[in-house]
Amino acid sequence: MKTKYAITLAAALFLALSCLAPALAAGRPDKPSPEKVLQMLQAGNARFVAGKMHRINQDQARIEMANAADQGEHAFATILSCSDSRVPVELIFDTGIMDLFVVRVAGNVVRTDEAGSIEYGLAHVHTPVLVVLGHTRCGAVTAVAQEVQGHGHALERNIPPLVAPIVPAVKAAMQAHPSAKGAAIVPYAIEQNVWQAISDLFVMSPATRDLVKANKVMVVGAIYDLADGKVHWLPQDQVGRILAAAEKNPQRATEAMAK
Ligand SMILES: [Zn+2]
Repeated sequence: MKTKYAITLAAALFLALSCLAPALAAGRPDKPSPEKVLQMLQAGNARFVAGKMHRINQDQARIEMANAADQGEHAFATILSCSDSRVPVELIFDTGIMDLFVVRVAGNVVRTDEAGSIEYGLAHVHTPVLVVLGHTRCGAVTAVAQEVQGHGHALERNIPPLVAPIVPAVKAAMQAHPSAKGAAIVPYAIEQNVWQAISDLFVMSPATRDLVKANKVMVVGAIYDLADGKVHWLPQDQVGRILAAAEKNPQRATEAMAK
């Protein structure tokens, strides 16, 4: 009995040490691989869609744990999402407390506040994945599409500068789909706006580019469908092309660290 206990203890110690070693070597806490995180998010969304949510990490024990723990050792994905109330980020991935580092802003745009928040999520909370999550019927993208097509309406003073990063996305969508007029351009613009946010992030954030190039972080584009709750994952090779373009962009930031 004693021998069995000793063997179990030795095995547990070995397991603990072998888990710690790669984490210490990389200077980052041990986390699932980006591919594994993507699978976790996909599985969580499948449970959400099927109405079979596990609702894990939402209990009193997790609240107490979050109060004592370092989120950097637990949260596994950074998500940039629109503020829209129809896109409840933790719910749609069937996640709970201390699972996701969420950045929310109307139109899921990236400017300084969002880039800084994402840098914190990737470099300090050490999430192996960043998801830029657009959604169908996005009001911010729709408003910009109307404005660019000459059917805009009055907006409160702070909204136009907020949604300005969506303008090039709408224009690119119109160029790629010249026959899509009026509201028909919106779905294309929503996808293009995900790529635009990723591009803006790569141009503004050398730290993010470095983490992606070192294979420590995977950046993924996705669109949440309000109609059925499904997250549609956008082609991964496009992210590589956007990164390559950002690396050649003369306007890219080159100093990763603040002075
Ligand atoms: Zn939206």
